[in-house]
Amino acid sequence: MNDVGGRDSVSGSDLHRSALECSEALLRVFEFLDGEMTEVDEDAVRAHLNACAECLRQFDLDQMVKLAVKRSCEPVTAPSHLRTTIMQRLTVMRMELND
Ligand SMILES: [Zn+2]
Repeated sequence: MNDVGGRDSVSGSDLHRSALECSEALLRVFEFLDGEMTEVDEDAVRAHLNACAECLRQFDLDQMVKLAVKRSCEPVTAPSHLRTTIMQRLTVMRMELND
């Protein structure tokens, strides 16, 4: 018997739905941002974002977070002016606490 069937792994049968639900679209946004999507999926997400202001807003937030995370992961030390700003803020906070 060489008849080995691989019928257990049927999935993604609903990939070709024309419309994503909001919750699904938002979940996929993360894959979208990672560039881990097929073009078909990307189109579906884009289509949903174009049609749904709510998700577009959410997508913008996620994109900002993602970019921020990416930036902070770069092997670049914080610019000195940023460090100065943080130190100044800490100093102000301490002064307020000591008041
Ligand atoms: Zn939506």
